[in-house]
Amino acid sequence: MLQNIRVVLVNTSHPGNIGGAARAMKNMGLSRLVLVDPLDFPSHEADARASGASDILEGAQVVATLEDALVGCNLVLGTSARDRRIPWPLLDPRESGVMAVEHAGQGEEIALVFGREYAGLTNEELQRCHYHVHIPSNPDFSSLNLAAAVQVLSYEVRMAWLAAGGQASKVEKVEVASVRSGELATMDEMERFYEHLEKTLVDIAFLDPEKPKHLMARLRRLYGRSSVNRSEMSILRGILTETQKVARGEPHKRKDQ
Ligand code: SAH
Repeated sequence: MLQNIRVVLVNTSHPGNIGGAARAMKNMGLSRLVLVDPLDFPSHEADARASGASDILEGAQVVATLEDALVGCNLVLGTSARDRRIPWPLLDPRESGVMAVEHAGQGEEIALVFGREYAGLTNEELQRCHYHVHIPSNPDFSSLNLAAAVQVLSYEVRMAWLAAGGQASKVEKVEVASVRSGELATMDEMERFYEHLEKTLVDIAFLDPEKPKHLMARLRRLYGRSSVNRSEMSILRGILTETQKVARGEPHKRKDQ
């Protein structure tokens, strides 16, 4: 079940932090590490800091963009040391652990996303997440070391997993849920939907690309709350396609009426 939870590190500068994160993960029973465009990897420093967790580094997937890292995911939790302009559904690490384990137990794919050492995650990256996670640190000194933040979240995942009885007890739930998760839209399907939605809103002049006013971020937050499944997704895509045809004056489904 814990193998359904991936840790995603975005644009990490210091290889030592990648090693530290791998060690923290392995201590807590997590194994899937995804690195988005790391500055210096593989590296001796990462191996040194990983201690006995080099297997996690060897198995790490290196990808070019956050979008690539989230392919196949159903639930994305993005960590942030700061408040952002558009308020987003917010969890503390304990709630995140419980939510990640509940969803993983239902056969879903979860990502815990961590930002750059100096700049964290961009607003755009945070808007790709269903929830934001803040470790309630000292407001005057709120930013933890990256590997320490991975440790806190991984520990909470482990505590929630242990509280849920660990691996064995959830077999039934996994079976029931694998049916459900097959139906939930994945992050990549949602991304294609958002692209289609944005184009359509421009076509009908609801969205002015010169003055977007956070519209797409607000819509991401709305649809992100909705656990859209595959058949709902095809309804939404169908509506967009027909809307675009009307906007272009092309023949569409109700052309005779
Ligand atoms: N200066 C950056 C902090 C980056 S710290 C900023 O202001 O955003 C590197 C990463 O560690 C963050 O992107 C986040 O993933 C994690 N992190 C550090 N402190 C955190 C906190 N208090 N809560 C949640 N995540 C935190």
